[in-house]
Amino acid sequence: MRKIVSLFSLLFLAQFIMAQTQIIAHRGYWKTDGSAQNSITALEKADSIAVFGSEVDVWISRDGIPVVNHDESIFYNGSKILVQDTDAKILKSIKLSNGENMPTLKEYLRTFKKTKNIKLIIELKKHRTKEQEDLLTKKVLKMVRKMKLEDRVEYISFGLNFTTKLIHLNPKAKVYYLNGDLSPKVMKEIGASGIDYHYSVIQAHPEWVKLSHDLGLKVNAWTVNKPEIIQQMIDLKVDFITTDEPLLVRKML
Ligand code: MG
Repeated sequence: MRKIVSLFSLLFLAQFIMAQTQIIAHRGYWKTDGSAQNSITALEKADSIAVFGSEVDVWISRDGIPVVNHDESIFYNGSKILVQDTDAKILKSIKLSNGENMPTLKEYLRTFKKTKNIKLIIELKKHRTKEQEDLLTKKVLKMVRKMKLEDRVEYISFGLNFTTKLIHLNPKAKVYYLNGDLSPKVMKEIGASGIDYHYSVIQAHPEWVKLSHDLGLKVNAWTVNKPEIIQQMIDLKVDFITTDEPLLVRKML
């Protein structure tokens, strides 16, 4: 009898742990000493606080190298240049606010391979042409496969082209769509792992959380930094909160 009781309490505990909202550090954990958005340090800091995942933004340079940066453009020698129109050699020379150089994705993945606690959530940024996006998708998937990181990497994008291409090239990959305009049912149909929407979309469609769960999909809300909205998303039982305030979300959980 005691065995049965402890089995039930174990199951209860497992269910509770599984239902717990998980934290994703938006652009790594950067609101801390010596860190910067999308820096290698932000990735290491995310690992040091053992959140579920660390998010990172990726572009392809003019000469076909995947590089890590959020914005479409960046300052170089006093003028604004587009990341996708610039060679990797120049991009790599650009300093981040913490003094690091802009990393390539390969450098980023090398550090990620040494981390112990986190998954990497790679955002593929929307480019000017489908050709650039297709090349980036192929290169990123190949790099992740070669480094044997497939089990630890998930993908997100605002681009439906990226989303469908990723699923087509690697049906096992976990892929989420960010743009907020498609229902969980459509996501299920295209083979995505779930919705990854701005919290205002979840607020407007709170029923999408249960609908997603009923379809076997996960729900991620971004970028949730304010206590009242963090609480709202926790109460709605989203699976993931992407945030610039990972320690605050943890405290509230
Ligand atoms: Mg991003």
